[in-house]
Amino acid sequence: MSFSLNPLRVKGSFLGVAIGDALGWPEERPRFRKILKRNSPKDFALWLKREGAYKSIHWETVNPGEYSDDTQLTLAVARSKLTGEKWFEHFTQWELPCWLIYQRGGGRSLLRAAKIWNTGIPPWKINNKKELINYFQAGGNGVAMRILPHVIYDGDNPYKMRKHIFRNGITTHGHPRALIGALLHAESLRYLLYRDQKKILKRGEILDFLLDNFHEWSELLLSDSESEWVKIFYELFNEDYSQLWKKVCKETEKLLKIAKSSNLSALADEGEILSELGATGKFKGAGNITAVAAIFIFSKFASEPTNALIFAANFRGTDTDTLASMVGALVGALYAEEWIISEWQRVQDRMYIEKIAKKLLNKQVTNYLDKCSEISFNMLTRKKKINFGFFGQSTVQEIEYIKGKKTNFTRYRLRTQEGQTLYIKSINIKETEAHEELLKYEHLQKEILSISEKVFWAGKQEGAKEILEIVLRSFNLYSKKKFQEAIKAWEQNKLEQYLNKLINSNLKH
Ligand SMILES: [Mg+2]
Repeated sequence: MSFSLNPLRVKGSFLGVAIGDALGWPEERPRFRKILKRNSPKDFALWLKREGAYKSIHWETVNPGEYSDDTQLTLAVARSKLTGEKWFEHFTQWELPCWLIYQRGGGRSLLRAAKIWNTGIPPWKINNKKELINYFQAGGNGVAMRILPHVIYDGDNPYKMRKHIFRNGITTHGHPRALIGALLHAESLRYLLYRDQKKILKRGEILDFLLDNFHEWSELLLSDSESEWVKIFYELFNEDYSQLWKKVCKETEKLLKIAKSSNLSALADEGEILSELGATGKFKGAGNITAVAAIFIFSKFASEPTNALIFAANFRGTDTDTLASMVGALVGALYAEEWIISEWQRVQDRMYIEKIAKKLLNKQVTNYLDKCSEISFNMLTRKKKINFGFFGQSTVQEIEYIKGKKTNFTRYRLRTQEGQTLYIKSINIKETEAHEELLKYEHLQKEILSISEKVFWAGKQEGAKEILEIVLRSFNLYSKKKFQEAIKAWEQNKLEQYLNKLINSNLKH
């Protein structure tokens, strides 16, 4: 291995994270999305993502090439590393709490941990047993997906790189599946980034390397600062963390062996292998499973890197965005930019990603000035510039209203000083209440009208009029004049329009 990094491969790997993420995101949860436009599986899609739950359900537009939490947090880790020694503090005190404001598609464990950091404490110090158990059982790929910056920054010192990745990992995930998965992905990236590109990659070469050096890269490296952390785990589960670590190491080694044996056979069906690895099953989102699946796909398509991404992003049943994002990072680490087809050049924030990649490579220490504070939304108008913490002066580029099932939102698109795009949403309290009233009315209206009709047809007009009066009163709209107008509208078959007009003008006041 040579020990100098190629700037184009660093850039390619970083772009790979975002391109894979953007390509795979629409396929992540097919039941919760509507594709509006996508010509072929290699294209970025224009799509709607279902957001929120219960009353707040709404559909949010995702434009072609836009990325999710995988890339957002990789960029957050990159900025943290750029602060030098303070990276851990920057990530946990500034980045994670701020990410809650602009996050897109964030995984459950990530959101939970960020919310706890936002209260000023680490998740392993929370005074809530259930939350604590959740944290130590979080074994998802949310760590592996974000660690590329550590490899770029510290890849020449693997021991330091691994320690930092572990430290970064436990900020959100406590289970070895997440952490070993991250170490595995980091080792694969490091191998590829430092590898002589001129030598042709042999079939199964990277899997051989990972298996041959398994004990070195998967070692549990605990610092003094983590002794308390391990103790908390022990008290909670009455098990040594190192024992659990060993179990997951065995499990991961087995997965790598499956990937290797199937990789040697050119005929093996990719889908079958992915299911054997567990990448389509209940634990598809586990860190170690996703990391092995990514290497498997990368190795299988080593001679056709563009197809590796297309395959990963569209393979139904896997965690498509993270898987494709991790495959993208691997592909870029070896092939720089040659795999990037023209469609993919328009990935969100390409210039900013390139800038950050270059800064990381040059270890250009950056001083970020402030943490992000709450945004007062009524200050946000189009083209307005606001100071948004360490993102600096950011411009409101677009304002969009989103009508939800019962809750309405306004979505602001911000462009940060350095060129990252952030979407920030606010709930429109006033409108939402009004909307709920309207829904209540619409619901009532149908019922009342149908009853009124029946009464009317039965020749009992007076009964219908009574009901009409109840409707008007229930919305505080009753007056003699309005009642007469309503009757008249009803006789002209225009009652619905009249009531709508009445309600709407009332809501405006
Ligand atoms: Mg994602």
